[in-house]
Amino acid sequence: MINKKVEAAFNKQIAEEQYSAMLYLALAGYYESMNFKGFGSWLRLQYEEELAHAIKFFNFIIERGGTAELSALPKPPTKLPPPHQAFSLAYQHEQKITKLIDSLYDLALKEKDYPSQSFLKWFIDEQVEEEASTLEITEKLKMIGDKSSGILMLDHQVGKRGKKE
Ligand code: MG
Repeated sequence: MINKKVEAAFNKQIAEEQYSAMLYLALAGYYESMNFKGFGSWLRLQYEEELAHAIKFFNFIIERGGTAELSALPKPPTKLPPPHQAFSLAYQHEQKITKLIDSLYDLALKEKDYPSQSFLKWFIDEQVEEEASTLEITEKLKMIGDKSSGILMLDHQVGKRGKKE
């Protein structure tokens, strides 16, 4: 049986992961509307990954005899900074998610909920990757600045994610 405090915190995390998905989809639409299809494709893959993260928490709560609860989600931003800056929203968000995962782990330790500690290890590792990949793109965009030729080149490179060479 899942610890009740951990269950409540995991239910909140379902919404955080679903909001992450919405933020990535909003960013995908923003870049695609400016014909940056590579960023769009990268961000759509990330959208799907975030939905899968939410489902992992959802499934785990049920598997441990708890009740999964869904929440209303906040609206993602509609007014976004210029293309060479907007991607930093993803990096900032991932840093926030890392802190949330860390505090979930703290709670699972405090409550001596060993299965939840084990479950969260996957997310701790995943966040290292999420921060690294969003930081890399954010920093490259910062180097490029508002030069559209440079953004187009990076767009092409970023769009190769998940595609065979
Ligand atoms: Mg996530």
